[in-house]
Amino acid sequence: MPHPATKSRPAHTHGIGSVKPDGWAYNRAPMIVYWELTNACGLACRHCRATAMPEPAPGELSTAEAIAVLDDMLGFATAAGEALPHVVMTGGDPLMRADLPELVAAATARGIGVSLAPAVTRLLTRERLFWMKEVGIQAISLSLDGSTAAFHDGVRMVPGTFDATIEALDLAAEAGLPVQVNTLVTATTAADLPAVYELLSRHTLMQWSLFFLISIGRGSELAELSPGDAERWLLWAAQVNRDAPFRVKTTEAMHFRRLMAAPLLRAGRTKQEVEALPMARAFGIRDGNGIVFISHQGDVCPSGFLPEVVGNVKDTSLVTLYRDAPLMRALRDPDRFAGRCGVCEFHDWCGGSRARAYAWTGDPLESDPLCPYVPRTTP
Ligand code: SF4
Repeated sequence: MPHPATKSRPAHTHGIGSVKPDGWAYNRAPMIVYWELTNACGLACRHCRATAMPEPAPGELSTAEAIAVLDDMLGFATAAGEALPHVVMTGGDPLMRADLPELVAAATARGIGVSLAPAVTRLLTRERLFWMKEVGIQAISLSLDGSTAAFHDGVRMVPGTFDATIEALDLAAEAGLPVQVNTLVTATTAADLPAVYELLSRHTLMQWSLFFLISIGRGSELAELSPGDAERWLLWAAQVNRDAPFRVKTTEAMHFRRLMAAPLLRAGRTKQEVEALPMARAFGIRDGNGIVFISHQGDVCPSGFLPEVVGNVKDTSLVTLYRDAPLMRALRDPDRFAGRCGVCEFHDWCGGSRARAYAWTGDPLESDPLCPYVPRTTP
């Protein structure tokens, strides 16, 4: 998803491992707020983080409460040089919120950029896609978890979703809406990635994000890749990224950055030169550092995949929770991470998936178990 906040990210003047948290603008504001407007959704995907349901859950934020959150977000940019975060309205299915047009209008009127992560259901019509473009939605994301209907619909649990997703992808292109396609990567689906890439290469998209499964929510029924296999698929993704007609990125596999940067360092590029490259824009972003999540009931977590609630927007400012909650502060200080991630020379750029560390160990500061890298310094 695009974001407006890159200007607030300072150029690093130190080497890997020596950039202290106070040097990061992410201490002041997230780059992206993922906002689960509702957990109502017409799909019942096997890996759903939100454990979505057909009807809205009790306690969902009201329109007035949601607009108050948008007002509160303005507090992220009160000093010169500070930028507002970008908001990704997600779910559930954000199209299930009848007040979505009002919330989008309220956000854009406040200078807050909005992207949408709609589910592919009968609600995602041609008219709605063109409406999104008209009201200034900056991008949308669509999920495509397999190269065939059998693969994709098997994950999404609703027959016909594969064809509808391809149709939505083409309609979004026709409407002029940039699209990020999200693809789930698990032990059983990874082998299909080259075929998904082939398929996507024949369509128009801005970005392809490979989401490396974390075993939470309905996702716990599916199996994560082994660290060795994950490394092999990330190397494949790095290679594909060099020639792809769209950008390839990862979600919850932050060590992709190590794999992208290490060959450049080996070839003699300095750390400062690497940090000046476009690919470095995402460096450092991880659960709680540049990212924050608001649930449909207003609970605030470091990310949608790290379900540790640090407070609720109904009674505490999001700005205060993001900046000052002890867990959020700890997540922004990689020197406090345990094990390999704590001593890794790449930890400022990567830092590992805090969500996966939490899912596997109960401690979000532990090492990311998906990464097999052995740092130069041993813990
Ligand atoms: S050890 Fe941790 S910080 Fe280092 S590359 Fe792996 S996940 Fe990233």
